Amino acid sequence: MNKMIDNLGRKISYIRVSVTDRCNYRCIYCRPEDQFEFIPHQEILRYEEIAEIVEEAVKLGITKVRITGGEPLVREGIADFIRQLRKINKLEDISLTTNGFFLPEYAKKLKDAGLTRVNISLDSLQEEKYNRITRGGSLEKTLKGIDSALKVGLLPIKINTVLIRGINDDEVEDFVRLTLRRPLNIRFIEFMPSGEELKDNYRDKFISILEIKEKLIKKYLLDPIKISTENGPAKYYRIKGGQGTIGFITALSQHFCKNCNRIRLTSEGKLRPCLFSNKEVDIKQAIRNVKTEDKIIKSKIIRNSIKKAVSIKPEGHKLNEKFSNRDSFKMSKIGG
Ligand code: SAM
Repeated sequence: MNKMIDNLGRKISYIRVSVTDRCNYRCIYCRPEDQFEFIPHQEILRYEEIAEIVEEAVKLGITKVRITGGEPLVREGIADFIRQLRKINKLEDISLTTNGFFLPEYAKKLKDAGLTRVNISLDSLQEEKYNRITRGGSLEKTLKGIDSALKVGLLPIKINTVLIRGINDDEVEDFVRLTLRRPLNIRFIEFMPSGEELKDNYRDKFISILEIKEKLIKKYLLDPIKISTENGPAKYYRIKGGQGTIGFITALSQHFCKNCNRIRLTSEGKLRPCLFSNKEVDIKQAIRNVKTEDKIIKSKIIRNSIKKAVSIKPEGHKLNEKFSNRDSFKMSKIGG
């Protein structure tokens, strides 16, 4: 039975876990090109600590976990960690968000370890532009990564595309056409004010998903697909005869907080009930302060921290109003 219903009646069943703040890319909307201050190694949660937290969260009603970062595939031992999570009874779904660069070598290992599916970030289909957005990423490697994920069956594959006006909004139709021939689920995401480089002219760079959708509707017949609200914030459509789907995530223009079912665990061990709020519970300190080896006491302390995080979950974010051109939050630290 789910014991995690928050003060507003939302059932919390999903945890996003950032396993590292490190990344092999430096996406322009996510982190600065250099001078990035990494969290010291000893402050990052160990895999055993994360597994303990997830295990207790599952006892409370969590059924899905998403592994993210930074780039989760740069952390050593990630496949073994997923194998460890797989052993948790009643954990139904383990997914992972990646930039896809290391997937050609990791897809099979991850599948064998028990990973259910992947989300792959892909913001351009043009090599030069992809390189510019990711500051050094390889489109070729990421496309190969998508092929590998398809081949080993890490399904359904969701492709996350953050749209930025004047940068990649001219490629929307190219992305849409990918769904005709391949079973890929393209999700257009509204760019949020977390980028270091773009935050100064955020309002000029923001493009609403509604605007994109209206343009697409004029050209393509989009059939809505009904998916339960528990499956995340996207609204999905299919082009007649297409193998994949098209999703729209309106994080800013129409937020979906009333259906939010998630909490986050940052790589440095803070439980965050909302990506956009500074409210957090220091679960790492709670675990590391326990002086006893008594498993029952330790489990109780972990569960209390999780319940505390759920109890302080805000009603919703007010990103639209809150962020001026100067403000931003650090996605790279919290984990997307
Ligand atoms: N490295 C992995 C990746 O590239 O997918 C996982 C971490 S990344 C922070 C997770 C997701 O957050 C990506 O899909 C990325 O596009 C999204 N993201 C990061 N900054 C964003 C922003 N400012 N607005 C919208 N989405 C953002």
